[in-house]
Amino acid sequence: MSSVYLDHNATTSLDSHVLEAMLPWMKAQAGNPTSRHIFGRTARTAIEHARAQVAEACGAYTSQVVFTASGTEANNFAVRGMTANQDAAQILYSAIEHPCVSRPAAALKQYGYKSQSIAVNGQGRLETAHLALLLEKPANLVSVMLANNETGVIQDIAQIAEQVRRSGSLMHTDAVQGLGKLALSFTDLNVHAMTVSSHKINGPQGAAALILDKRVDIQPLLYGGGQERGLRSGTENVAAIIGFGMACELAAANQSNFASHTRALRDAFEQGLRSLDAQIFSDQVARIPNTSFFAVNGIEGETLVTALDRKGFAVASGSACSSDSTEPSHVLLAMGVGHDLARGAVRVSFGSHNTLQQVSGLLDALKSEVLRLRQLTGVTA
Ligand code: PLP
Repeated sequence: MSSVYLDHNATTSLDSHVLEAMLPWMKAQAGNPTSRHIFGRTARTAIEHARAQVAEACGAYTSQVVFTASGTEANNFAVRGMTANQDAAQILYSAIEHPCVSRPAAALKQYGYKSQSIAVNGQGRLETAHLALLLEKPANLVSVMLANNETGVIQDIAQIAEQVRRSGSLMHTDAVQGLGKLALSFTDLNVHAMTVSSHKINGPQGAAALILDKRVDIQPLLYGGGQERGLRSGTENVAAIIGFGMACELAAANQSNFASHTRALRDAFEQGLRSLDAQIFSDQVARIPNTSFFAVNGIEGETLVTALDRKGFAVASGSACSSDSTEPSHVLLAMGVGHDLARGAVRVSFGSHNTLQQVSGLLDALKSEVLRLRQLTGVTA
């Protein structure tokens, strides 16, 4: 039995055009992009082409793209680098940030920075009144994600950035789950820095970027040979960067098709879910189109994920990036969802190759598994 992949917010498969663009850089002798000979110059030209493709997809200038090896790295770079040259004050981040924002912020405590989370409401939207209250004291940086990886909730980043800029602080957004799913414009979001990652848009692992306003005084992430304008030294992963560039070009070209296709799948899925007495999180606010996060009363998310996996459907019980934890989703807890319901959370994230037929197969599998598990545990709807 071949399984149906429904975990596209965790990672995506490599697009065949992306692989094609990468292969020459893996097969033939490629030069070090800093070398002056023809091999080096060719690699440098290819990287700069990829930089332009990433910039275009992000609504940014080429000179604003700093390549990193992962979204995690870009987020750590933003949090540490953007605060390092300021007097230590507070670092603010939304209570639903990915740990690769909240943990580096917390780790800066040793240097005198205070990290503080900003509350969200029951639908997962930022409480801007709480942000305003926190901004009464000086803040070095505010980081609020564009779209949440679990609920899919989209924040009004331009408006938040305006509020943050008025206070004189720097603003970063993690747009890892926004790229390819939303029309993305660094300029319109009006932030100082923005993170994007290749493997969420059918590009390879090992490439990502921090899109950075060049006027920001940022401390380099890695010191060495001076690559990436001296901000992130280290010989470039040429093939991965070329793949990231191509994935960006394709994602930008297909974004509206991706959105309408996955929204249709999600809507059909959620219509079926409602008849199962499932609670759908954040369904009253704007979400990225491919994501559905829900819980079935009385059934553990982990149990359901395992049961669905056996039936050929790969879904997630929350954030794959923090799946080492058995704690309920911090995102749901921040939204005020009770521990028991939060423990039931399951995430389905669709991709462009999923079909309505797969959605009805998933719904059938869900129905029979929910019935079976309810009989086992004696829980009634
Ligand atoms: N930010 C968000 C919102 C994510 O969903 C993820 C990964 O799931 C990351 C950051 C980390 O990105 P990467 O896997 O490229 O390190």
